[in-house]
Amino acid sequence: MSRLRAIYSRLPIPLQNAACSLAGWHTVRQRFGETFRGQLAAYEERNRWSHNRIVGFRNARLKDFVRHCADTVPYYRALFPEYGIDPGSIREIEDLKQLPVLTKEEIRRQPHAFYSDDPGGELLMNRDTGGTTGNPLRFGAPPGTISEQWAVWWRYWRWHGIQADTWCGYFVGLDVVPRRQKRAPFWRTNLPRRQIMFSAYHMNDRSLPEYIKELRRRRPPWLHGYPSVLALVANHLLAVGDDIGYMPRWISTGAENLLPTQRDIIERAFGVTPIQHYGLAEGVANISQCEHSRLHVDEDFAAVEIADADDDGHGHLVGSNLSNPAFCLLRYDTQDIVSGLTEESCPCGHPGRLVSAIDGRREDYVILPDGTKLGRLAHVFVGLDFLREAQIVQNKPGRIIVRIVPRGAFGRRETESVEAALRRRVGEEMGIDVTVCDALERSSSGKLRFVVSGLRSGELQPIPRQGIHIDLDQKEQK
Ligand SMILES: [Zn+2]
Repeated sequence: MSRLRAIYSRLPIPLQNAACSLAGWHTVRQRFGETFRGQLAAYEERNRWSHNRIVGFRNARLKDFVRHCADTVPYYRALFPEYGIDPGSIREIEDLKQLPVLTKEEIRRQPHAFYSDDPGGELLMNRDTGGTTGNPLRFGAPPGTISEQWAVWWRYWRWHGIQADTWCGYFVGLDVVPRRQKRAPFWRTNLPRRQIMFSAYHMNDRSLPEYIKELRRRRPPWLHGYPSVLALVANHLLAVGDDIGYMPRWISTGAENLLPTQRDIIERAFGVTPIQHYGLAEGVANISQCEHSRLHVDEDFAAVEIADADDDGHGHLVGSNLSNPAFCLLRYDTQDIVSGLTEESCPCGHPGRLVSAIDGRREDYVILPDGTKLGRLAHVFVGLDFLREAQIVQNKPGRIIVRIVPRGAFGRRETESVEAALRRRVGEEMGIDVTVCDALERSSSGKLRFVVSGLRSGELQPIPRQGIHIDLDQKEQK
């Protein structure tokens, strides 16, 4: 993989574009084939089901999945007798509460115990998750599991009128532009997927006008990306008093929680209210914003609970995966916080419980020596299994401290691996100090921030408001 990447980075730009399109063509064939089309049709068929019908559907899936776990997954084969639970007694989400909540740490201790003896015989593909805490998890999934996740995401985009052939300005953490490249174009095109993939790793005050120029030239009707990345573009537009010369029809965000400040900045810069969904590679929960701006739990995809809710209704999002028969997770703690779970119905007509807010995966930016802001760094440590937890702290421009809680011995080799992983993102000019500690500091709500910035420019903070502000929570209640 890294050799392919090295070859790619030496190609002339037109060939890099061709390579991106080739990869896109491969993805379309592999991920969006017949299986996907059947899954999407089935998901859309459930668009207008009643609440009771979709809950019945989910419970039937849950029942089968629990049986599958108890029969074929070593961890659950041991757990059910140990807790004296009859798997047949689990018929709905309430019944799941007999089982302990599963932490990522528990999976890491014995990942093989979560693999089913009977994964359905399909080829397993590796899935990686960065996670809020930067301690990655790698696991397997059959292709049908991955395409089902895309089906639930596409159902949501299609609720809003976005189609597979809608051109998209894509602002996610894809590493498609070599880091050493200092001049535009800071984007590559994936023709089969209709994506203009903008680099999230080259954005600074000098380069952002080039991004704007390209948006103005190509006018993609749909912008999608990490909110932290879209907010950087929006921030720049507001700071220089510019616009992209057209109003996109849709802006959608994913992978990170859309913070109210980011929503505000994006709305003001593009004139469009972003839509969001919540999902994670583990597939234990999915939440989609509907046409009426409400957040629907996708009941037919996973069995979602809120655990340990406080008096304000904030609780841990805990979910059971119903779509991956190979790597099986029941009551998995996503470490994300949601609030306001309710069974009231929504005027859009789609079924599913509603939540009022998702409050997870917050991250500040790291500021590079040349002023570039980098967000979404949690993925840099994927594959470094000796890390229990990691956190990046920046108090001085051009220098970061990496706080490490190691799993075992942590010597020079491990230090060098951490530095090398970071260098690929932050470049050669950044000063990196690695320090080992016993525990990382957590916020009052128990969340760990992966990047903590002591620099004003690195903090996630609102731009001073202009004009009238409407409280979104209040607006959504109307
Ligand atoms: Zn709705």
